[in-house]
Amino acid sequence: MREGSLEAPTRHPLDWRNEAFYDEAAVEKELGRIFEICHGCRRCVNLCTAFPTLFDLVDSSPTLEVDGVAPQDFRKVVDQCYLCDMCYMTKCPYVPPHPWNVDFPHVMLRAKAVKFRKGQVALRDRLLTSTDALGKLAAIPVVAQTVNALNRNGAARSAMQGVLKVHKARELPPYAPQRFRSHAAQAAASPVRNGANTPGKVAIFSTCYVEYNEPGMGHDLLALLAHNEIPYVLVEKEACCGMPKLELGDLKSVARLKEINVPPLARLAREGYAILTAVPSCTLMFKQELPLLFPGDADVKAVQDAMFDPFEYFVLRNRDGLLKKDFKQPLGNVSYHIPCHARVQNMGQKTRELLEMVPGTKVTTVERCAGHDGTWGVKVEYYENSMKIGRPVFRAMAAGEPDWISSDCPIAARHIRQGMGGEAPKAQKIHPLALLRQGYGI
Ligand code: SF4
Ligand code: SF4
Repeated sequence: MREGSLEAPTRHPLDWRNEAFYDEAAVEKELGRIFEICHGCRRCVNLCTAFPTLFDLVDSSPTLEVDGVAPQDFRKVVDQCYLCDMCYMTKCPYVPPHPWNVDFPHVMLRAKAVKFRKGQVALRDRLLTSTDALGKLAAIPVVAQTVNALNRNGAARSAMQGVLKVHKARELPPYAPQRFRSHAAQAAASPVRNGANTPGKVAIFSTCYVEYNEPGMGHDLLALLAHNEIPYVLVEKEACCGMPKLELGDLKSVARLKEINVPPLARLAREGYAILTAVPSCTLMFKQELPLLFPGDADVKAVQDAMFDPFEYFVLRNRDGLLKKDFKQPLGNVSYHIPCHARVQNMGQKTRELLEMVPGTKVTTVERCAGHDGTWGVKVEYYENSMKIGRPVFRAMAAGEPDWISSDCPIAARHIRQGMGGEAPKAQKIHPLALLRQGYGI
């Protein structure tokens, strides 16, 4: 049987509303089947710690084969997977339509969903993935200051590690004293200029992270739209996109959040808006994950078709001849990391492409998983592994005396800057949207 990769990979929808999806024996059998293929292949050994965990289990089993691994140890592999999708997207020659039908992330997700349904998920994990509820609480001004102070306090962090199992060394994003949506600038009344590739008006899905942690990213995006005379609105009603709950295997919560988010987004899509979110994982949720969970849902499909990464939108806008290029300020040496959830969107390196349009800018792109994921890398049991996975990225980002350390994923950027330690001391962490705004001098 020949290897795949000659045809475009196809992704099968997840049959998660079918009881058979949660049949433990069937999941175990499917895990064993896929592990068998991976054991014979081993291409993904350096992608993350899930594969080394699997191969170590096999190599220390009495038979030296997957059948010698105790099925309860399969869980150890599942726990190391943070669903970045890189094995599926970049390595595996056996993905569908290859008849071996290897979709490693999907079988991991199925196993996580079984675990979640059995209630085998820690309170810590339920809490960390409730980004909206946590954000609402922690972003109350006095609470935000207290939470931020506690996050920087060694004794408080040791206590948090003991109780919540959040690693005390992990640098956590601060909560902002002012939420994004309440301080977002109104759009000026500009005419709608549709292009061949881009709608001429934009709806912003702010995301929990921008709303509560880094509202500056949202303000930068609005300033860039305003400078390019693109009218915009904020989506009037939004909840978490559901990605953290998906990664936990909590598919019911994903469905609940989808019911809040998708109807207003679908309305905007049908009214001709491009929908932009500044966080790649959230964009991916609407572009890929929800369509795979809700195949045939016309609203989900409308949202999928209208959803853009901001840099994808601006680059396409440029192709339409509708992007201003009146850049005023060189950006110097930018070490740019393209996060997994941007790569999975299959849109090419749009951020690099646009930043390189700014004269006096050199972008060095690092295209490798940094190993944090949304919540995985903060957990006490995975922190060391997340730093280990990130090490080659930290090294590559520090090379060439960069002025800036940048990633579309603000969580990855913080993790990378932390992992770089004292290397490249003059390089500041900055989001690409802020860099582009600097380039325009606005
Ligand atoms: S999805 Fe990512 S974390 Fe999971 S096994 Fe594949 S490469 Fe590793
Ligand atoms: S996921 Fe595919 S490429 Fe990776 S080890 Fe398994 S079979 Fe090989």
